[in-house]
Amino acid sequence: MPPKPFPHLLSPTQEEDLITNAQQWALTNGLVMYPPNFDIHQASVAPITLFPTPIPKSSFERAIKVQTLYNELYINLITKRKGWLVDILKSLAEFDPDFSGKLFDIYQKSIADGVLQPLSLGIFRSDYMIDSTEQQIKQIEFNTVSVSFGGLSTKIGQLQSFLNLAGFYDDKYNFKYYEDGEIPVSTSATDIAQGLADGNYYYNGEADNKDTIVLFVVQPKERNCFDQRIVEYALFHDHGIRSVRVTLEEVDALVTNNSGKLYIKSTMDEISVVYYRSGYGPSDYDSNPTKTWNARLFLEKSQAIKCPSILTQLSGSKKIQQLLTNESIIKQILPHVTDQDLKSLLSTFVRILPFDESEQGQEAAKLAIQEPEKFVLKPQREGGGNNIYKLDIPKFLDKISKKDWGAYILMELINPETYRNKILRNGEIYHENIVSELGVFGTIVFDEQTGSIKTNKNAGWLLRSKFETSDEGGVAAGFGCVDNAYIY
Ligand code: ADP
Ligand code: MG
Repeated sequence: MPPKPFPHLLSPTQEEDLITNAQQWALTNGLVMYPPNFDIHQASVAPITLFPTPIPKSSFERAIKVQTLYNELYINLITKRKGWLVDILKSLAEFDPDFSGKLFDIYQKSIADGVLQPLSLGIFRSDYMIDSTEQQIKQIEFNTVSVSFGGLSTKIGQLQSFLNLAGFYDDKYNFKYYEDGEIPVSTSATDIAQGLADGNYYYNGEADNKDTIVLFVVQPKERNCFDQRIVEYALFHDHGIRSVRVTLEEVDALVTNNSGKLYIKSTMDEISVVYYRSGYGPSDYDSNPTKTWNARLFLEKSQAIKCPSILTQLSGSKKIQQLLTNESIIKQILPHVTDQDLKSLLSTFVRILPFDESEQGQEAAKLAIQEPEKFVLKPQREGGGNNIYKLDIPKFLDKISKKDWGAYILMELINPETYRNKILRNGEIYHENIVSELGVFGTIVFDEQTGSIKTNKNAGWLLRSKFETSDEGGVAAGFGCVDNAYIY
């Protein structure tokens, strides 16, 4: 059955009423962001869609189902194929000495005199688009550091459920437009908090301990801080665990190491988990490189559980994603994988080619020039704004030296279905074609030395949408918005 249309019978007055209600619910309940150049006391409604966007039930369920397998794939890569991973990361470090190279250097320094904390926490998000011809979820990327929007995703689900149940999507104001179960609410806010609580539990020798705290390492003047606060408040509400926010630059002044353990200087609260919502891109270290890189090493060497460890962070690089699209490599990493699981992993891949001297690399170079409109070229960077799309690829390649090509991968573009939903952004409504990206969260506690997996969980999901005409989808960057699924 095709999805039903967006609620389209609303009169202009009814739509005004819907928008007012959506915005006031958002401000009341924290579906908010700071505007650019903000003052601390003033938040704005986050960019959102007015209606949930259709997602086929089978695609949604597949994406949820494959998550713990993806978690395991990345953890086994880190723990059971460490030598292989480290060799690849070493060569990436040479292409990108200023960032990947520095992270890799910290990894090496952090293990030089032995590892104080073998346990590690991953909070991951696997992003997909649904290919419109195959009706299959296709992976865009697997994120292993600082995954965002787990907090706001729960909030928009709650908002749209409210609008639906209260009758605002209906022109008669008297019945719900979507049936029960058609607009699910993501449990990501509480599930990500549960992941942090799991880290705290294992740090304390498998005991609930409300005296140790979680350190949130954040960017200065973070506009998306409410997304993080929602997780912090869930961590406190559900588990009684407090959190303290510091920037990388503040670590030296505010955190101390005593016999390997980390403490907040002013209170001597012991830190169980160091959770990074910063540190994933070069600009996070720009303001004071010596201080911020030293802070990263200082935290990495401690006994606190890192979320993520340097190795986990680096395993999320696009080069690794490209290598993992190879079936025989997957079988090596997951030797006991069932045929069905293997099939479901493989079905999520589009073609990703290396951009190096190999045979495949030569083919990629040819495709990039001959059919650039089908591809995106990606460097080893996170956080948006770094990729080169379609016809920009040949021009870009002309500009860079051929010896640097190996740092990139060439990925086939996914063609998702478009929908004419309405985007609400800064009080304005935009009625345009949008495309959506489904992110599935997962959390995992594991032993980076032995490979033993303590917990491996699903942690909700996120739908983000952007104008069809925009290549990138950053919400804070102004390209995209937080959406919610209408499952059909
Ligand atoms: P980043 O690490 O910067 O988030 P991504 O690989 O997630 O990089 O790409 C950024 C955005 O570009 C995605 O959110 C998506 O909107 C778009 N994009 C990336 N890869 C593809 C692809 N293969 N097909 C279609 N869109 C893509
Ligand atoms: Mg991304």
